[in-house]
Amino acid sequence: MMSPDGAALPSAGPDSIRYPDLPLPQPGEAVPVREGLWWLRMPLPISLDHINLWLLEESNGYALVDTGMATPATRELWERLFATLLKDRRLTRILLTHLHPDHAGLAAWLQQRCGVPLWTSAATLEQLRMLLGETTPAMLAQRMAFFARHGVEPIEDMRPNLGSRGYQDTVDGLPQASRLMRDGDVTALGPRQWRWLDTGGHAHGHLCLESAAPEPVLIAGDQVLPTIAPNVGLTPLTPDPNPLATYLASLERLSALDADTLVLPSHGRPFRGVAGRAGEIRQHHERHMAKLFDACRTPRTAFECLPFLYRRAQRGFNLFLAMGEALAHLEYLACAGRFARLNDGAVIRYERVA
Ligand SMILES: [Zn+2]
Repeated sequence: MMSPDGAALPSAGPDSIRYPDLPLPQPGEAVPVREGLWWLRMPLPISLDHINLWLLEESNGYALVDTGMATPATRELWERLFATLLKDRRLTRILLTHLHPDHAGLAAWLQQRCGVPLWTSAATLEQLRMLLGETTPAMLAQRMAFFARHGVEPIEDMRPNLGSRGYQDTVDGLPQASRLMRDGDVTALGPRQWRWLDTGGHAHGHLCLESAAPEPVLIAGDQVLPTIAPNVGLTPLTPDPNPLATYLASLERLSALDADTLVLPSHGRPFRGVAGRAGEIRQHHERHMAKLFDACRTPRTAFECLPFLYRRAQRGFNLFLAMGEALAHLEYLACAGRFARLNDGAVIRYERVA
């Protein structure tokens, strides 16, 4: 099954990335990655079975990057941490990379539990508010019309994916943001200066944190992952009309970081070789585009393109993710002038331009 975080991708080649020798954190334990920088893991009840969180030590405690999904298992591990590592040195603030449930799920709960401020982007906060609010019949109708226009048949298959219940079940309330971070903002945490990078495409308003000294480190969120390609989808829930362009531009930007940068991803293990890994992920998207270029010799809807991208028929939430991925690539090609959009008033078909 695909997860909201990414599609399976062959493991990185041996030359592209290097893993430093670090032990995996055991449940409820923190592994030191660098001085003042700690790695935690929390379980996820999906095929992607864990998320990495990071503690950044400052004079009076630890800033926490991301929070884990709102599940009893994750809450229990937090309680264990409060009784051990965080007994004498408390959390000081929560830094949120993006809105997905494995990242934002326990933000409000931790804020209440610890009385700490939360910093994230305005776009993340806006989407949290939207997804945690009520889905009105008008919103649902508009989302259904979007997928009908892109050829989904039977359209009723899409209805269960278009409310927010799944999101609300795994995100425990709306956090209060104390500060809204923008690209280029710099925050001092302990001995390091961290620069915030607005890196959208996987999630609108996604933030990475980069620190150049004493050695280069990137807290990557879901933007660049060592073994899977982060999901990039265009759906009625994403305000970005061309998320793949945004995503590829942000990959390009991360590729330009120091070659020795230690990348701390939200899934998988810390690694070096960000430019090589970014290149592999770019190739994954180029392969998708090549398949669509082939498919759209004759005009096709996004739904009709799915068999060209995926071997198996997509159902349930995977259908929602697959449509999002297909549309992100089709719209990228259309915006680049390589595909035409043919609108017959009922559905939109894409056709390649010779
Ligand atoms: Zn994500």
